[in-house]
Amino acid sequence: MTTSTDTSVPSDLASVVEAHGKAVAAGDHPAVLADFLPDRVGQLIGSADVPASLKSADVQSITDVGDGFFDAVIRYTKPDDEWFELRSRWIRDGEGTWRTFSVRNIPATPPWMDLTGPSPDGLDAPHWDGLRDGKLLLQRCSSCRTWVWSPRPICPICHCFEMSWEPVDPVGTVYSWTRTWQPFTKEATGHLPYVVVLVELPGAGGRRVLGVLADADGVTPRIGSSVCGEIQQPPDDEHWPLMRWHLEGQAS
Ligand SMILES: [Zn+2]
Repeated sequence: MTTSTDTSVPSDLASVVEAHGKAVAAGDHPAVLADFLPDRVGQLIGSADVPASLKSADVQSITDVGDGFFDAVIRYTKPDDEWFELRSRWIRDGEGTWRTFSVRNIPATPPWMDLTGPSPDGLDAPHWDGLRDGKLLLQRCSSCRTWVWSPRPICPICHCFEMSWEPVDPVGTVYSWTRTWQPFTKEATGHLPYVVVLVELPGAGGRRVLGVLADADGVTPRIGSSVCGEIQQPPDDEHWPLMRWHLEGQAS
């Protein structure tokens, strides 16, 4: 197994990372938890999806990623010889001990929540059907032409009941954002952290929609940054398509 290690990587980190991988593979939970930053244990427990039984761990690389952080990629092999890789990010704590700052599955894909899809009252069903057709549809009053989001049975401006659905260019700016470290739903395990953006859409009267920022691993968005949306099809029939947002210049 080849290990590519950056020349700027501190010599004591390599042995810490190797011991960490072996502890994970052996299911030695107290040893694994002891490697985590104490105030992040709760967040880190659900950050990677690790099978109960593993055969071996091999460090693939350790890379200096700046600001005192180092990324280690460890390949874990299951009893049936299938393997997967996890990326752990390391930093020295106040006492000089190397600690795990974050862990995630590779590739760094955004989560696919079971919470998506039309609401029970069906009011937003045209929006979800629109995504299946490759369009971002928002509600708009047929009378006063006000854009409305989230969906309502009646126009909040002129009280007209005739609400239509119209396509909107998925181009906007970041109004706000947050990075989620906790696996609030089981589907998020292995996809942490991820970034949710609130996107303001000039093409829809400045209405704002929520979505996950794609390619956000290690990226810090800025308020006002330009983003464009891309509809991703679901991994199976149980889920709905989702609009993922890309920071301008990062579109896939
Ligand atoms: Zn209206």
